[in-house]
Amino acid sequence: MSPSPEHLHIVQAAARLERVRYAIRDMAVLAEQLAREGKTILPLNIGDPLSFDFRTPPHLIAAVEKAMRDGYNGYAPSLGIPEAVEAIHAEAARKKIRNIQSVFLTAGVSEALDICLTALVNAGENVLTPCPDYPLYSAVLAKLGAEPNSYLLDEANDWQPDLQDIARKINSGTRAIVVSNPNNPTGAVYSHQTLERIAEMARRNNLVIFADEIYDKLVLEGAPPTSLAALAPDVPVVTFNGLSKSYLVPGWRVGWGVVSGEAAAVKPYIEGIHQLLRARLCSNHPQQFAVRPALEGPQDHLAEVRGKLRSRRDLTVRACRMTPHMSCVAPRGAFYAFPRVDLPDSDEQFVKKLLVEKHVLLVHGTGFGQAPGTKHVRIVFLADEETLTRAYEALRAFITEHYV
Ligand code: PLP
Repeated sequence: MSPSPEHLHIVQAAARLERVRYAIRDMAVLAEQLAREGKTILPLNIGDPLSFDFRTPPHLIAAVEKAMRDGYNGYAPSLGIPEAVEAIHAEAARKKIRNIQSVFLTAGVSEALDICLTALVNAGENVLTPCPDYPLYSAVLAKLGAEPNSYLLDEANDWQPDLQDIARKINSGTRAIVVSNPNNPTGAVYSHQTLERIAEMARRNNLVIFADEIYDKLVLEGAPPTSLAALAPDVPVVTFNGLSKSYLVPGWRVGWGVVSGEAAAVKPYIEGIHQLLRARLCSNHPQQFAVRPALEGPQDHLAEVRGKLRSRRDLTVRACRMTPHMSCVAPRGAFYAFPRVDLPDSDEQFVKKLLVEKHVLLVHGTGFGQAPGTKHVRIVFLADEETLTRAYEALRAFITEHYV
């Protein structure tokens, strides 16, 4: 029997969650409702290549299947299995990262960044996060009771970090800076000079750098980006990477962190990270057996992935530029575009109305943060060209019908 309303004790969520935003999944709730009503949604919202025409390289599946059959179904070592740790170490060395002090595997970069922020930041301190950002960083920082502190990415300068803004925002409580390159949500790839300047600011101000390089094999033109840690062997850097995006297995939850810097300087911090890694036992065990074959085996799928992404990116940029009230800096990496929309509605209202009326699912820019007075949407251009074309035609029709 249900209790009467006056006897019902409502279980409130913690107040700290008020600062947690995860618009990517939040907007999906409305889309699911429409899908239940029989509407076909054009999903340009979630960065999962496996939801589209990308398939996991079969040799990775074979490696995990073999590991399961060979009985690697118990707990793994807390830092990860030796062959995966060695392969990640070797890959970091190929990227010219020196002074490597720790390598560990986690349940995706998501867990790595949670653990590494938790091991560093005290309540009331702050970490510089980009604006716009990948929202998990600010969500974890909110959970830790850190003060928000974000630096602007400059749309007028191809979404490169605004170095003057970074300099202005560093204060006595600043412990670290997050640098996501290639970037989610803008698709920007940072110049060598920008990375050197960030490294220099971190060096002068005793900041740890969190270099999130999960899209570094998905650069769509030019040379692969330089690892920030390679430019600053003396600075404490945690470089994040994983199999989710480049190796097309986001559901396996395989990520890692590589800590570099002066051994004596990072020792207590690494002990803190290891303590948290031990407390959560281990990350997925059989999936770790895919790491060596991924990093050292055939890389053929990457050329195909980048080829598809290049034409989908070009289609996206062309469509945005042909749409009234919309402008778009061309992304150079990853699979995201962050076009600007100049409309009387808020970006959230716009995205909701577009979803309800035309069934095109984007994410509003406020979900990532954006410079005051600007409005954006994030587009994930993983879908095939026919789907993208339909979505962009619907988007253009919607804007023309409502705002022109
Ligand atoms: N970092 C960035 C910049 C991302 O875009 C994502 C996922 O979209 C992640 C981390 C999380 O990756 P993982 O699947 O390894 O947890």
